[in-house]
Amino acid sequence: MLTETLFRHAVLPAYESGYQRRKTLRYWRQLERSQWSSREELEGEQFAALQRLLRHAAENCPYYRQQWELAGLRVADVQSVDDFRRWPVLDKQHIREHRLAMRSERSNGRLICKGTGGSTGVPVHFDLDLDSHDRRHAAMWRGYGWAGARPGTKQFYLWGVPLESRPAWKAWKDRLYNLLQRRRVVNSFELSEETVPQIFDSLNGYRPDAVVAYTGALYQFARSLAERGLRPYSPRALIVGAEKLHGFQRDLIESVFQAPVFETYGSREFMLIGAECPEHRGLHLTTEHLYVEILDDDGQPTADGQTGNVVVTDLYNYGMPFVRYAIGDQAVAGFGQCSCGRGLPLLQEVRGRRLDSLSTPDGRKVPGEFFPHLMKDFAGIRQFQVVQPALDQLELQIVLAPNWNNADEQRVLQQVKRTMGPRVAVRWRAVPTIELTKAGKHRVVVSNVRP
Ligand SMILES: [Zn+2]
Repeated sequence: MLTETLFRHAVLPAYESGYQRRKTLRYWRQLERSQWSSREELEGEQFAALQRLLRHAAENCPYYRQQWELAGLRVADVQSVDDFRRWPVLDKQHIREHRLAMRSERSNGRLICKGTGGSTGVPVHFDLDLDSHDRRHAAMWRGYGWAGARPGTKQFYLWGVPLESRPAWKAWKDRLYNLLQRRRVVNSFELSEETVPQIFDSLNGYRPDAVVAYTGALYQFARSLAERGLRPYSPRALIVGAEKLHGFQRDLIESVFQAPVFETYGSREFMLIGAECPEHRGLHLTTEHLYVEILDDDGQPTADGQTGNVVVTDLYNYGMPFVRYAIGDQAVAGFGQCSCGRGLPLLQEVRGRRLDSLSTPDGRKVPGEFFPHLMKDFAGIRQFQVVQPALDQLELQIVLAPNWNNADEQRVLQQVKRTMGPRVAVRWRAVPTIELTKAGKHRVVVSNVRP
């Protein structure tokens, strides 16, 4: 069996620097150092990197060149972050329409293509260059390291594995990679009441240092173990991501596994945006690589303590720059300082995916957030999905716990009808499971009504 030390000093450098010729290891060492710099120093370097990126994009990316010229924006005028606030905010639609023109003319086609979009149903493709690839992996190593899950530690993944069939050589490459990384991967799509005992045995047999999981899947797994009275192997840490972590989920997971939960926040476009350190006071941002803003719908900074849109500028993806890109998530504004001594500012709280809003026949908009807010008060509702097939119809798909009582059903229906108005027919449908998106995530509100 490989030890962590042997792994870190021999296997990993050989794999990353030799075979793959990547700079990940070097970047990782830099990030391990820079996290202890003062906040002023980090933000100073961040701003200098932002200016470099803007100059690069204006010179080499046709889309940005044209857009900024049309808007009368000059990179030389950006002398502070306040000046940068005049720059336009992009969303997924911009990426879909202008991807090719957003690429750098100097990339010579040496780009890695990635896709995202399971949660909104509309796929988005984008590119990154090799340097950015190495940097973002290094940032992930550092962030996971805060939870004690540095490369070389044994990790058990309960993660969404792509559904599309992969060529055999790719599947083998993944297997080899996982073996070298000392990872055991269980597909979170395969998690069900039937497979829980199997996954339980696999975890107990592997005895990992850390469990890395989709939030929803790990919560579901933990709840099922608790109901069966099963005590799983207790790792040093449980790292969750890909979906918002609620307080009640953290509590249950920690009590079942007898180990601390570390929340992470990331996206396909940027990988790790923030992660918790052992102080659990918020998520330390990847400040060296990303400039993160919380903005309202008009593009203005959200007041501290208020919820706004997460807008990210990737300072190092020169292949296809993302400048002020609204990911589609929401978070609470206000970047605090941690007691651990790291200079990296904290993101207070990620609120999660911005949910679809529902239109009503009387011309109102009901924010999707209404539904989780309502349902959280009913312990017998395990999972739900709200579907609006037409303007005057709404279907509540509910996975119920065995102890559900029908009086609660009436209370939920009453509340929903009052909010949606008298012209919407609301249907209650108890279902055994809620279908996940292609990315293995749970979509809470689905509206098929065009705004
Ligand atoms: Zn900290």
